[in-house]
Amino acid sequence: MILKDLGEFNFIERISKGVKLSRQVVKGIGDDAAVLRGTGKKYTLFTSDMLVEDRHFYKRAGGYLIGKKALSSNVSDIAAMGGVPGACVVSLGVPPSLNIRFIDELYRGLRDVARKYKVDLVGGDTVTSKKIIINVALLGEVEKKNLVLRSGASEGDAIFLTGDIGGAQKGKHLNFSPRLEESRFLVKNFRIHSMIDVSDGLLADLGHILKQSKCGAFLYEKNIPVSRHAKDFNSAVRDGEDFELVFTLSARETKRLKKTWPFRVKLSRIGRVCKQRGLFLVRKNGKMEKLIPEGYRHF
Ligand code: ADP
Ligand code: MG
Repeated sequence: MILKDLGEFNFIERISKGVKLSRQVVKGIGDDAAVLRGTGKKYTLFTSDMLVEDRHFYKRAGGYLIGKKALSSNVSDIAAMGGVPGACVVSLGVPPSLNIRFIDELYRGLRDVARKYKVDLVGGDTVTSKKIIINVALLGEVEKKNLVLRSGASEGDAIFLTGDIGGAQKGKHLNFSPRLEESRFLVKNFRIHSMIDVSDGLLADLGHILKQSKCGAFLYEKNIPVSRHAKDFNSAVRDGEDFELVFTLSARETKRLKKTWPFRVKLSRIGRVCKQRGLFLVRKNGKMEKLIPEGYRHF
């Protein structure tokens, strides 16, 4: 069998079955970041993301935005765990013919994001390659009581989304704000049952929560805020790289959450967790459809 036939998610499941973990690991493969034992009242978080030229970005976008994205997507994964980022290492694959200004701009982008979210850039590696490749690995931490996994959703939970979705390929995917402050507000003030950041697409990422939480969900089309850049609703819920947060909490908390939400970024109650497995969409006309939680497939 070749990789393409296995599919990305089966591939990850396959790797995860093959590794044996020591006692330092609280949560290994399968969430937005790994969770390690850490010290005292905190866990250590550890995540990594890679960008490849012509796949995740075009060189003409410029080093600055590409550098920003490389670190921001990792900060987004730490936010999805309820934590705060700490230190990162940056590894580059670069063609020897690359203009040095591109690298300068790349690091200016990395530095700007690092400063904003108080991340220290402490190392990395550099090799030559045909295409530009950027990998960032980021450490973070989270108070034990504030850790949020994908697996904690339960029947009756309200499902919320920050911001709007769709059309990210028109620009947002390179220039987005990871929802770190929003995540910290949520975990400090509410009991968030599950959370993920939208990288593979709303349906696919909510699908990860539902699979790991062993439940299903209803989504209400009328409540899902679609970006004006999106082609239509159906592509908006499947396209990836929105980098918004999807989270669930007890429906009882809905009112207080809406009342106390202090940010300009939108907050929408997009659905409800149910016991029956599967993803069901309630259309604007009231009709119900069963959805397949598919989104962006890397291969
Ligand atoms: P995200 O979109 O949140 O960054 P991914 O879909 O990239 O998450 O990855 C899902 C899970 O699979 C994560 O726990 C990640 O660490 C793990 N993973 C992805 N690729 C590999 C790999 N090559 N080896 C081991 N674990 C991996
Ligand atoms: Mg993620």
